Amino acid sequence: MIVHWHRRDLRTTDNRGLARAASTGEPVVPLFVLDPTVLEHASPVRVACLLESLADLRSWYRDRGGDLLVARGEASGVVPQVAAARDATRVVWNEDYSGLARERDRAVRAALEEAGIATESVHDAIHHEPGSITPNQGDHYSVFSYFWKKWRDRDKRVAVDEPAAADLADVSGEPIPSLAELGFDEPEATPPTVTMAAARERVADFCSGPIYDYADRRDYPAASGTSRLSPHLKWGTIGPRELYAATERAAEGASTDDDRESVREFQRQLAWREFYAHVLAFNPETVTENFSGYEHEIEWRDDPDGLEAWQAGKTGYPIVDAGMRQLRTEGWMHNRVRMLVASFLTKDLMIDWRRGYDWFRRRLADHDTANDVGGWQWAGSTGTDAQPYFRVFNPMKQGREYDPDAEYIRDHVPELADATADEIHGWHELEPAQRERLAPGYPAPIVDHAERREQAIELFEQARGESSD
Ligand SMILES: Cc1cc2nc3c(=O)[nH]c(=O)nc-3n(C[C@H](O)[C@H](O)[C@H](O)COP(=O)(O)OP(=O)(O)OC[C@H]3O[C@@H](n4cnc5c(N)ncnc54)[C@H](O)[C@@H]3O)c2cc1C
Repeated sequence: MIVHWHRRDLRTTDNRGLARAASTGEPVVPLFVLDPTVLEHASPVRVACLLESLADLRSWYRDRGGDLLVARGEASGVVPQVAAARDATRVVWNEDYSGLARERDRAVRAALEEAGIATESVHDAIHHEPGSITPNQGDHYSVFSYFWKKWRDRDKRVAVDEPAAADLADVSGEPIPSLAELGFDEPEATPPTVTMAAARERVADFCSGPIYDYADRRDYPAASGTSRLSPHLKWGTIGPRELYAATERAAEGASTDDDRESVREFQRQLAWREFYAHVLAFNPETVTENFSGYEHEIEWRDDPDGLEAWQAGKTGYPIVDAGMRQLRTEGWMHNRVRMLVASFLTKDLMIDWRRGYDWFRRRLADHDTANDVGGWQWAGSTGTDAQPYFRVFNPMKQGREYDPDAEYIRDHVPELADATADEIHGWHELEPAQRERLAPGYPAPIVDHAERREQAIELFEQARGESSD
């Protein structure tokens, strides 16, 4: 027998590790491990997604006479135990690139080798593995545009088939534990449906039309112009090759150059995901440390009240609050708004990006260490390609530009349902009595943006050793 250890590849098609296991001719035992060390870093919304996805994967196997074994415990103990109990000769898995995952995999590999069981790992989660797209000097790019040019021009692998029923071992697993049995509360957000069928349906829908408007609509949160594939890419319910092939077919079917360009723009976002995977693979410490250092430490503020208002979506900056409330209710936030709320935390409140990362990590259904750290360090002006410290997003202007009718804001901030777009975007300029009359339950801005902008620039100049003081 041969074990395929599923991790962030909760699918059967376009799964290179699983296909490799099936190609050996030995019966395949699919395994997932609920590892307490990994669960420690998880959150209710993500575990809810995971459990749904595991149930989906299990039914796929059961429908074909196999089963998904779901075991609990430290992977380095459980994987060899399961493999030995089934007389497996080999365990196969798909590579994961975060520091924590690689540490776990090293321990599992060592334990399996000690037990005399072979191991094999395959690159699957991204098209081009870390170390395969490099500048002349160095092991990875720090500037996305250079990475993108190479990524775009490289040949892509094609999707592999799912295993046949005859490839599967005749095994049967224990019931999958519930959220409560794993020690998690019900999530506050409604988790997205993260199954293989839901992923395929979304890809098909998106690539049959919305992808052609993506470039024009992707920055407008009320337009729902993005794919919302992030939870699927996070859990691997869709494979990168299958998705890319669908985008290529969309490009072939494009009727105008603009449509083709729009598909390209979407592919460019997929490349950002791979760029950040490379950055994290070579800089695992950046989960907690700045990617780009300044001469001195940045003296972030300790502001528990500001942090709480930001988390609650009660900063008095409507677009920021709308985003933070979308995160609470949906476990997802639009990219433009992620950039805005992250800028607000790090620049207007001058709170350490790590506090924001930590909140996103707990609240996002699509939390992906590489993308999340990448996004936060970008916003906090400490990352690769980071937003320059002196370019501070103005939340009112951004609201006016990207949510001109305040539709997105009204959707998520019901207190402002009866206010006009002008009143909403000019909230900071209204008299207290006007604000009280329009939306009694909604706060006045907790900080003055213009003042905070100056102070934030000063904060970074001090860190650069350039302050006038
Ligand atoms: C502060 C901050 C935190 C973020 N945290 C995460 C996170 O935890 N997980 C996550 O997947 N993305 C994260 N992003 C990136 C981006 O916001 C989301 O990928 C995107 O909003 C997901 O929605 P979508 O699937 O509709 O995106 P689409 O626009 O449809 O893009 C398709 C896919 O491309 C990838 N992608 C798009 N934009 C980016 C980007 N800027 N960086 C990396 N990959 C990208 C994602 O896999 C996404 O699903 C973060 C961005 C910021 C600014």
